[in-house]
Amino acid sequence: MSKVALVTGASRGIGASIAQALGKDGYHVIVNYSGSQDKAEAVAASIKEAGGSAEVYQCHVQDFEAVKEMIKHITSTHDSLDLVVNNAGVTKDGLLMRMKPEDFDKVIDINLKGAFNVIQNVSRPMLRQKHGRIINISSIVGSIGNAGQANYVASKAGIDGLTRSVARELAPKGVTVNAIAPGFIESDMTDVLSDEIKDAMLQQIPLGHFGEVNDISEAVKYLASDSAKFITGQTLHVNGGMYMG
Ligand code: NDP
Repeated sequence: MSKVALVTGASRGIGASIAQALGKDGYHVIVNYSGSQDKAEAVAASIKEAGGSAEVYQCHVQDFEAVKEMIKHITSTHDSLDLVVNNAGVTKDGLLMRMKPEDFDKVIDINLKGAFNVIQNVSRPMLRQKHGRIINISSIVGSIGNAGQANYVASKAGIDGLTRSVARELAPKGVTVNAIAPGFIESDMTDVLSDEIKDAMLQQIPLGHFGEVNDISEAVKYLASDSAKFITGQTLHVNGGMYMG
C-alpha cells in the first residue's frame, strides 16, 4: 500500500518538481492546481510514465470549503494521508506606499490562509492515524525582508510562525510540521524579474548560482523521510548561502 501525498500548487515550478520527486519515491501524489489544468495533468502523466501513481485535483487553497472537500475526497478514497506539502504561492509586488489593500489581502489569503486551510483540515485525519508530515514552503525573504514585497514577506514570515505553533500542537500525536525556505530558485515566479534584479541577487549568493527546483524537492524528500523523524518546528533554508540564520 503506497503512502499518499498532497502537494498544493503542483502544476508548475517547485510544486511540480516536488510532486514528481515524491512520485518517484513511491507516494501516490495528489497534484493540486488552481488554473493550469493541462500542466497539472502533464505532471500527473509524467509521474505515471516514471512508474508512479498520481491524480489531479483543482482547488483554490484560499477557499476553506473547497479545501475541506479536497481533503474529504482524499481521505475517503485513500487509506491514509501521510504527507502534505503546502507549496501554492503567488506574488503581487509593489512598494508599500503604492500597495493596494486588495493586493495585500490576496497574497496573504493564498500563501498564508491557504496553508492554514489545508493544515486545519488534514490535522484531524493525521492525528487519528497518529502519524503525518506537513511541510510548508516559506521563503528566504520571510527571514530577511525584501523591499517591494511587504505582502509576500508577511505571508512567508507568517508561514514560519504557523509552522512552529502547529508543530507544538501536533507533535504529541507523532505529526511533524516543518518549513522549507527557498532562496532564489529558477521558476515562472522568478522568470518575471528583470536582469538587473537577477544580477543583484546573484551577487548575494555565496555559491554563485541560482537554485533549481530539485534543490527544494530533495529537501522535501529528506523532511518527509524517516531520517527526519526527530525534526519538527524548523525552517530549513535552501539558498546557496544567501542567508545564514
Ligand atoms: P510558480 O509561480 O512557478 O508556481 C506557483 C504554483 O502555485 C502553481 O502551480 C499555481 O497553480 C499554484 N497556485 C497559485 N495560486 C494558487 C491557488 N490559489 N490555489 C492553488 N494553487 C495555486 O511558483 P514557484 O514554483 O516559484 O513557487 C512555489 C512556492 O515556492 C511558492 O510558495 C513560493 O512562494 C515559494 N518560493 C519560491 C521561490 C523562487 O525563487 N521561485 C523562492 C522562495 C519561495 P496554477 O498553475 O494552476 O496557477
